[in-house]
Amino acid sequence: MDEIQRLRAAVQPLLAWYAQNKRTLPWRGTHDPYRIWVSEIMLQQTRVEAVKEYYRKFLERFPTAEALASASTEEVLKAWEGLGYYSRARNLHAAAKTIAENGFPKDYNGVRALSGVGDYTAGAICSIAYNLPCPAVDGNVLRVLTRLLASGESIDAPETKSKFAERLREVYPEEAGDFCQALMELGAIVCVPNGAPLCGECPWQTLCLAHLNGNEESFPVRAEKRARRIENKQVLVLCHGEEFALVKREEKGLLAGMWQFPFIEDEPEHYGEVIAERKAKHIFTHVEWHMTGYLVRAREKAPQFVWASAEKIAESYAVPSAFKAFLPWLARKLK
Ligand code: SF4
Repeated sequence: MDEIQRLRAAVQPLLAWYAQNKRTLPWRGTHDPYRIWVSEIMLQQTRVEAVKEYYRKFLERFPTAEALASASTEEVLKAWEGLGYYSRARNLHAAAKTIAENGFPKDYNGVRALSGVGDYTAGAICSIAYNLPCPAVDGNVLRVLTRLLASGESIDAPETKSKFAERLREVYPEEAGDFCQALMELGAIVCVPNGAPLCGECPWQTLCLAHLNGNEESFPVRAEKRARRIENKQVLVLCHGEEFALVKREEKGLLAGMWQFPFIEDEPEHYGEVIAERKAKHIFTHVEWHMTGYLVRAREKAPQFVWASAEKIAESYAVPSAFKAFLPWLARKLK
């Protein structure tokens, strides 16, 4: 059996398994491209469990692309607060403006052209919303497929995704949306990434080469990981009366346009009396922040900062979760 024959043989058992075993998730059972798009963007790099509640609240607040388009950037970032990878929210907002004007695009190229939508997301939206045979291949799907085919192609090589997308295109069934979701579901609940896959529950037990060879965990093959860059930061949680100092991050790059406690290069004592100190770490994809935070009672309300009360910060300033270790300090009012 060659690779395409094996993939073709895997389609129907997978669809039958999916019909029986799919989880009930808030974004399942709709063909509304707006809702599917929001779910796919939220699910990028984020666990299903973490997304559920955000998804519900986000759609309550912005039920249509038009509602999202007419919101301010601050409102959108605030609704996204805590979900991480904030450029997703900015792209979603930008794309909503295009959609509000022209309607939701109806084909792969149109969807792919939306801000923040890559090959995978465009494939998922087109398959699920429009039942088009557009493969959606991410790390999850690659893991499942490289095991099925016992393929030694490194999943970190840039061409591997498109090679697998091509193979899938040849076997895509009429039930495109279900097939796309079934592949994702198998990767999420049976052919899992950490620990041994649950081959005993898999519809591909008799087809999967990795399983037949007993070396499931040799796949997927990965390139050596590059170490993350470590950046040491001093975080100034500066309090004056009931207000705290914030600065806005630049409009480009990591956590673009969000609000944070200022980073400082000099001694915290230059700003006032140091009341408390705490260490915290936050891990991004390519960088780790090793932070030392200082709670400082300010001598004066320095004009280079924006000042806001704890209540106002919670209500209107999107502060990324990288700073969450310092948020309990906001409950302390230093007179
Ligand atoms: S048989 Fe095991 S390794 Fe193969 S696809 Fe199924 S769960 Fe993954």
